[in-house]
Amino acid sequence: MPTTTAAAVVPMLIGGRWVEATANAWEDVYNPSTGTVIARVPLAGREAVDEAVEAAAKQFRGWAATPVVERARVMFRFRGVLEQHFEELATLITREHGKTLAEARAELNRGIEMVEFAAGVPAQLMGQTLPDIAAGVDAECVKHPVGVCVGITPYNFPNMVPLWMVPVAITCGNTFVLKPSEKTPLSAVRLGELLMEAGLPDGVFNIVHGGRDCVEALCTHPGVAAISFVGSTPVARIVYETGTAHGKRVQAAGGAKNHLVIMPDADIDQTVRQLAASAYGCAGQRCMAGSVAVAVGAAGDPLVDGLVQFGKEMKVGPSDPAASADAESIGMGPLIRDAHRQRVASYLEIAIQDGATVALDGREAAHGDGFVLGPSVVDHVGPAMRVCKEEIFGPVLSVSRVDSLEEAIALGDGCEFGNGAVIFTQSGHAAREFKQRFNAGMIGVNVGVPAPMAWFPFTGWNRSFFGDLHIQGTEGIQFYTRQKVTLTRWPKPSDSPHDPVWRSGR
Ligand code: NAD
Repeated sequence: MPTTTAAAVVPMLIGGRWVEATANAWEDVYNPSTGTVIARVPLAGREAVDEAVEAAAKQFRGWAATPVVERARVMFRFRGVLEQHFEELATLITREHGKTLAEARAELNRGIEMVEFAAGVPAQLMGQTLPDIAAGVDAECVKHPVGVCVGITPYNFPNMVPLWMVPVAITCGNTFVLKPSEKTPLSAVRLGELLMEAGLPDGVFNIVHGGRDCVEALCTHPGVAAISFVGSTPVARIVYETGTAHGKRVQAAGGAKNHLVIMPDADIDQTVRQLAASAYGCAGQRCMAGSVAVAVGAAGDPLVDGLVQFGKEMKVGPSDPAASADAESIGMGPLIRDAHRQRVASYLEIAIQDGATVALDGREAAHGDGFVLGPSVVDHVGPAMRVCKEEIFGPVLSVSRVDSLEEAIALGDGCEFGNGAVIFTQSGHAAREFKQRFNAGMIGVNVGVPAPMAWFPFTGWNRSFFGDLHIQGTEGIQFYTRQKVTLTRWPKPSDSPHDPVWRSGR
C-alpha cells in the first residue's frame, strides 16, 4: 500500500496567496489508474471559509467597478492560456479522475466554450431603457453583480464544472470562492494558477478545500450572496435548502437516471455505438450518461446482442499515460475509487436478486492495481427494480423491454430524476411525440448525450435540479446578476422652482 506522508499537500487560494491549510482532517487524492496516492487535501472548516469569503468580499467593490470590457479581456487571455496548457490540463484531469485522455480533452473543450461565452458577457449585460414613461421621466433597467458567489463542484468533471461557474460569475463582476471536490482538487488549483497568469486581480477568485463541514460553513456564511452547486441529489437538496434558508440565491444541479429509447426502426449498429458511448463514456460517471436503454418491440434482441459484443471488444484499463503505454488507445478508464467500484459492481447482484439477467458482467474485466471495472449489460429490467430507479454512476447499462413508445414515455413519468432522455428512430412522428412528452429537460434525437453547449441552459428537471435559474446560457447570467431600475427626471430650471439646487442659484 502507498504511504501518504510524501504526497503533496493541495494548497488553498486566499486573497491571491497560496496557503497551506491547518486542518484537523485530511483526505488522500488518488490516481485511479494506479490506485496510488498522489496528493493530500485538507478538509477545512469555518475558519478557512471565513478567510476566503472575507478576501472575496474585500475585492468585490473594486472588481465590480472595473469596466466590463476589462473583465472580459481577462477571459480572452484566460482562453489563450488554457489553449497553451491544453495537453498538460487534459493529462491532469486523466491523472486525478481516471477518464481517458480523449474524454479529458473533450471535457476541457467544453470548459473552454464557457470561457468563450463569458468573454461575450458585455453584450449580455446590456440593459433596457424606455424614455418618457411619464412626462419627462426616463426609465432604465441595468444588471449589477450580486456579490460573493460560491461554487461547490463534483468529482466527475474536475475542470469543466468549475468553468461552468467561475468565468461567467466573475465576468459579470462578482468575486468567487470555489470548493472543488475533495476527490479531484488538482485541476481546480491549476485553473486558479492560470486565472492569475491571465491577469485576474488577487482575491477575485479563491479556493477552499473540504467536505461536509466546509460546505455547511459556505451555505450559512452571511457574506455569501449566491451558491452554485453540482453533485448528487441528496446533497443538492441540502445545499438548496440550507442556502435559501440563509437568504442566498441557489442553483443546485443533482443526480440523474437517463433513458435511451430505441424504436424498432432505429439503425441498430449506429445505435449500439451511440448507446455504448453514452453509457460507458467516462466509465458511466456522467450526469448525462445513458443508464436505462428502453427497447421498443423487436429492437430488444439485436440491441442486447450488439451491446454485449461491443462491450466485450472494449479496451478497458489504466488511462494515465505515465502508467500505461497504451493510454491513448484505452476505450474506458477506471472508476474514481475502489469503494465506488464495489458499489457499482454490487448493483449486478442486486439486479440478479430482483429478477434481471446479467448479459455482460463488467467484473470479469476488472484487473490491475487501479479501480477498473468493465462494461456491464443488465437485461430484462423491470420498472420497480433498483437498477431501473437508482443512479448507479458507473458503466452499467440496464435494458428494459417494452411494447410501445407510450410505455417508454411512462417510464420517464415514473422517474424521480429528469436530466436527459434520448430516442433513436427514423420516424419524425415518434421523435416529435418523444420530444414533446418525455419527462426530462434535455432531449436527444439520435444523439446519445444531449448535453447543451455553453450558450444554452443546462436544463435538468425534477430532482435533477433545485432552484429557478439553471447553469449556463442567459439563465446563468441572470443568476449571477440582479437588476436595478432607475427612473430619471431632469426638469428645465424654470420648471422647478422648488428645486433647492436651482433656487440657491448655484
Ligand atoms: P457529491 O454530491 O458526493 O459531492 C458534490 C460536492 O458536495 C463535493 O464538493 C462534496 O465535497 C460535497 N459534499 C458531499 N457530501 C456532502 C454532504 N453530506 N454535505 C455537504 N456537502 C457534501 O457528488 P460527487 O460524487 O462528487 O459527483 C457525482 C454526482 O454529481 C452524481 O450524482 C452526478 O449525477 C452529479 N452531477 C450532476 C451534474 C448535473 O449537471 N446535474 C453534473 C455533474 C455531476
